[in-house]
Amino acid sequence: MLYTNQKEKTERICSNPECDELGVYPAPKSRNQLREYFYFCINCIRDFNKSWNYFEGLSEEELEVEIRKSVTWNRPSWKFGTKSLNHDFEKAFHSFENQKILNNKKVFNKKLDEAFVILGLSNNSSIKEVKTKYKILAKKWHPDVQNESKSKNNEDKFINITNAYKIILESLTKQTKN
Ligand SMILES: [Zn+2]
Repeated sequence: MLYTNQKEKTERICSNPECDELGVYPAPKSRNQLREYFYFCINCIRDFNKSWNYFEGLSEEELEVEIRKSVTWNRPSWKFGTKSLNHDFEKAFHSFENQKILNNKKVFNKKLDEAFVILGLSNNSSIKEVKTKYKILAKKWHPDVQNESKSKNNEDKFINITNAYKIILESLTKQTKN
């Protein structure tokens, strides 16, 4: 089973909520929605295809047992009829997907806050302020210019600063685009 859709290939996170890879490989959400896709990384699309094929030959009871076994999300008392299976499956994936987006956002916001702290800036600083501050700090902590007192510590500091700078820049560039 191989599906491609060039237009939608950019910048997605894998639909598997446990996974942080880019979701590059589209897979249909259900048999009834062959034109709507999840987007998985290479590992998860393999699992997804496996489970899709795996469920195919099972009876309704077997299916329910299998899904209860494999399902780790918060729906302990699912009732499956064959007709509603696709729907429930899709619903579960959807809530997963949303949860994933929310979690990513939370993680990113926390990182962003920390990044501003690392650069010693308030979190409403402009791109210009951020760039200026980064230049100063990068110069100060750059491993190459710290010849005399060069230490692992300085290098770590430089990496921290640079990572923080990247995170802030990413966030500020997004805001401008939206
Ligand atoms: Zn994945």
